[in-house]
Amino acid sequence: MEYQTGIEFAREMDRQDPLSGFRDRFHIPRTPEGKETIYFCGNSLGLQPKSVRKYVEQELKDWENLGVEGHFHAKNPWMPYHEFLTESTARLVGAQPNEVVVMNALTVNLHLMMVTFYRPTKERFKIVIEGNAFPSDQYAVRSQLKFHGIDPEEGLIVLRSKSGNPVIPTEEIEEIIAREGDSIALILIGGVNYYSGQAFDLPRIVKAGHAKGCVVGFDLAHAAGNLHLHLHDWNVDFAAWCSYKYLNSGPGGVSAVYIHERHGSNTALPRFAGWWGHDKNSRFKMPDEFVPMPTAEAWQMSNAPILPMATLRASMEIFDEAGMAALRAKSEKLSAYLYWLLQPHLERLGINLITPSDPAQRGCQLSLQTSANGRQIFDRLEKNGVICDWREPDVIRIAAVPLYNSFEDCWRFVEILKG
Ligand SMILES: *Cc1c(COP(=O)(O)O)cnc(C)c1O
Repeated sequence: MEYQTGIEFAREMDRQDPLSGFRDRFHIPRTPEGKETIYFCGNSLGLQPKSVRKYVEQELKDWENLGVEGHFHAKNPWMPYHEFLTESTARLVGAQPNEVVVMNALTVNLHLMMVTFYRPTKERFKIVIEGNAFPSDQYAVRSQLKFHGIDPEEGLIVLRSKSGNPVIPTEEIEEIIAREGDSIALILIGGVNYYSGQAFDLPRIVKAGHAKGCVVGFDLAHAAGNLHLHLHDWNVDFAAWCSYKYLNSGPGGVSAVYIHERHGSNTALPRFAGWWGHDKNSRFKMPDEFVPMPTAEAWQMSNAPILPMATLRASMEIFDEAGMAALRAKSEKLSAYLYWLLQPHLERLGINLITPSDPAQRGCQLSLQTSANGRQIFDRLEKNGVICDWREPDVIRIAAVPLYNSFEDCWRFVEILKG
């Protein structure tokens, strides 16, 4: 596509965008002067769908009027409430409905997945994570290693590129897995790295891992609602993600997991059990013996938190309407345009764009690695109504999100960045 530098071109792109109407379905934060901000932080906390209030109020009203009877008689009964999210969650990540369940918070779910899928033996005990993995993931895998009596110095493989760049070529990942695979129990990588914005080639990593007999799981915190995923077809063993980033469920929103059917149907797998994972037909007979459901739901421990699930339902309804394929198509256009607009100014500003230039290797996020004046640039953005984030030591992360960001947002952002 032939881009043009003027704002008219951005506006024309917005006019031609079939998804542009979705912006009106969200509350866009405003500056103290009352102007709409340029919200480029949907990779950290997604915006509030206007329909959230209606979904939450319904549950408040049913609780008000029905008390405990709401479990069965609410408009959306609370007993099976998590099931109202199953179909759209499965569609979102390319899974079968029996392979997903919404529950808990992300780091909790990573631990629960490792209880089942990290089963170290004397020969096969290592965990692979990517360099610059999100701190919580690093803490989680290190503590799992220690929990099994394994020194993280011996048990943890951190993927780093030979070049020293934050982006790790897939061939190098494959090489490491091929070389060390016999000692690797678990590969646990972020679908999109939170720092560099690199989108990993998930199906190739699954193939490489399975060829060596490793379990392959993904943390999709930055990939769910961002990339077009096909977890079942890619044969991914398990995955977990949060819903408050690209999925717009609000601060601390509920997490979800995917467990491939071949594992989910295996009721003999070790897991931490609770009553909500027990066979639905006999749960309220209050038996002593745990009988797991033959699906991902068997990993649920507690009854569902209705209010955070209500906010997520509002958002998933919008995802169903827009469709992940169309969202991803727009996202690629937005990030390519933004990438192009940024190019001529990077050298003068001392910015190194560390996110891959190939749209297939990134999602919405672009990571701008700054030099000495980085904080100054970030302050200028903030003062001029841009909301984005600063990641220590030196990176400004920006994300043009296809549900509510426009081409004009991208244009305005670069105007402010230029100074
Ligand atoms: C955002 C994020 C988390 C946050 O974990 P919580 O348990 O939701 O607080 C964890 N891992 C990754 C990769 C993230 O991007």
